Amino acid sequence: MLLTRRAFISVVGISLGLTACQLRPPPARRDQPNATPVPPVASQVVVTHTPANHAVVTQQVAAQYSFAAFASRVRTHQDEHTLYIESDGMPDHPMMIGIRSWQQQVPIPQDYTGSNAWQLPRQPQIAETPISAKSALYRGAIAIAANGVPIFNALNNRGEDALLAGELDEWGGHCGQGDDYHYHVAPLHLQAIVGATNPIAYALDGFPIYGNTEPDGSPMQALDEFNGHYDASGNYHYHGTTTYPYINGGLRGTVVVRDDQIEPQPHIHPVRPPQQPLPGAVITDFHIVSEQSYVLTYTRDGATHTVEYTRNGDTYTFVFSDASGTRTSESYRMPPP
Ligand SMILES: [Zn+2]
Ligand SMILES: [Zn+2]
Repeated sequence: MLLTRRAFISVVGISLGLTACQLRPPPARRDQPNATPVPPVASQVVVTHTPANHAVVTQQVAAQYSFAAFASRVRTHQDEHTLYIESDGMPDHPMMIGIRSWQQQVPIPQDYTGSNAWQLPRQPQIAETPISAKSALYRGAIAIAANGVPIFNALNNRGEDALLAGELDEWGGHCGQGDDYHYHVAPLHLQAIVGATNPIAYALDGFPIYGNTEPDGSPMQALDEFNGHYDASGNYHYHGTTTYPYINGGLRGTVVVRDDQIEPQPHIHPVRPPQQPLPGAVITDFHIVSEQSYVLTYTRDGATHTVEYTRNGDTYTFVFSDASGTRTSESYRMPPP
């Protein structure tokens, strides 16, 4: 039986204007001992480069950061105070496989470019009042990996360890309500690409996150509760670890926080409405058929199901197949940028 349900949905009203990984309704707000008055958000600095010099500038800037190792996917440029990182948030490695607590979100390339790029302060400053990710920053990203994939709090928005809850794939990632792929733990696998002595990521306060090796190649030294420490020159940096807090356990440097989210950071424009949890589903395969066509496979109650989705122009079409061969389809028009 072939069931085709075409639902062309204009999602003009769905732009969330935030990057929350709100996989479930947010919990009651917990005590936030670090909450401080929120300073006004600095107005965004817009940088323009002519096409002729953009490539040169991009190359020069990227060479100073680990993003250069992913130059085919990640572009950077800077002005006096800010490093801008542009990507589509999609990694080169496989995704989704191994997730056993799934909300039916899938990876869709995001538009983290132009005024929606990631931003890092070029001169990170130690904050008078650091912010612990144990009790805050449950919304949005807290770091950006060298491959252009955002990193969220290691705790989900119910305060649980997302990795131990089975929500993450074998690379430490999954997708948010905007079908935006992101990590919740340190992408230590990037060490092999960027080199052991280069950062695998940067916290949004601008301080680097190394893997399990010091920048000089020596073994990792003792860490504070934020997974960081000062080097011999008095510079602060974080490390990724295989146990909590996995990544930066908060922000030791100055950031602006608004509604529990670091700002500025890119906003998500979802293609489809948020999906629901699918208890019992285990994702067993995910592959990219072509640049804009994907197939995710999962098992549930012993049966195999697939989700195929393809972008054609400004429309995404999803085809859901169940074990009996029933196929349903849904199409969504992409929201305007
Ligand atoms: Zn998430
Ligand atoms: Zn260190």
